Amino acid sequence: MKKLLTAAAIAATTLFATANASADAAHPKIGFSIDDLRIERWTRDRDYFTAAAEKLGAKVYVQSADASEQRQMAQIENLISRGVDVLVIVPYNATVLTNAINEAKKAKIKVLSYDRLILNADVDAYISFDNTTVGEMQAKAITQVKPKGNYYLLGGAPTDNNAKMLREGQMKVLQPLVDKGDIKIVGKQWVKEWSAAEAMSIVENALTANGNKIDAVVASNDGTAGGAIQALAAQKLSGKVPVSGQDADLAAVRRVLAGTQAMTVYKPLKRIASEAAKLAVELVRNEKPAYNAKLDNGFKKVDSLLLEPIMLTKSNVDVLVKDGFYTQAQLAGK
Ligand code: BGC
Repeated sequence: MKKLLTAAAIAATTLFATANASADAAHPKIGFSIDDLRIERWTRDRDYFTAAAEKLGAKVYVQSADASEQRQMAQIENLISRGVDVLVIVPYNATVLTNAINEAKKAKIKVLSYDRLILNADVDAYISFDNTTVGEMQAKAITQVKPKGNYYLLGGAPTDNNAKMLREGQMKVLQPLVDKGDIKIVGKQWVKEWSAAEAMSIVENALTANGNKIDAVVASNDGTAGGAIQALAAQKLSGKVPVSGQDADLAAVRRVLAGTQAMTVYKPLKRIASEAAKLAVELVRNEKPAYNAKLDNGFKKVDSLLLEPIMLTKSNVDVLVKDGFYTQAQLAGK
């Protein structure tokens, strides 16, 4: 029996070896290039991903570009020359990686676009949460609190394709209300690098320009929501003007509990990270991953796996404790 198993294992390895000459299918080497590990959520993605990949027999090399296009390109080149079998990339700038990915493909390295879609490039697969749904959730929650009035739209980074998908989702909900005359969009701006400080100064300026007559802010993530809420607080408007978010960052969940942020969106990061680890290993092993969507990235229709986000308001934040994302003590600020 033991002999038989070994023979089967050898046959399997040979099969993989033929499929991709350089790859060690039993122990794939994964290069994980992350835009910015200084932002809370990505450190969790890294930890969950590494744990899941190691369980599958893989070794992970992590790099953070700290929001630098040049650094990310250099790091990807470095991972290619180290001989990784697959690159998993959270792009800083969606549109500048075409050449780097061409290099990877020439070296028979598979490429998985993680959370953010890489545009105009030959990526093998994409995994994310359904970002249009996230945008819809943000706008829906805000319109429930403020069905009428002046709205300000705080978009994500202009270099991030997700920012555009979120906006699409938000407008699906908002446009009919604009057409009806219930809502007026008094301003909108993208926030460079999703920076909270930049979001704060944008909202400060918007409040001044509108004589503080802003009734709601649709912010695209928790970091920028935090900046918006600081600007509102300076005008004694925090808690009165609903603000949306996403990520279930700890500070944001505490703001939701305190009533200064109307909602956030919980994206179970353990889920995306483990699915991505599985997908990356399957790509190396030339197995058929299970996809549920195809997204056009300007180069091709990319095989995609889109996961379901969960809308969180004060009434259901306990989901986070049940899911092990936070402890009750963390939420209470202890
Ligand atoms: C992610 C968000 C994150 C943002 C800033 C987006 O692409 O989907 O979860 O808050 O980037 O890092």
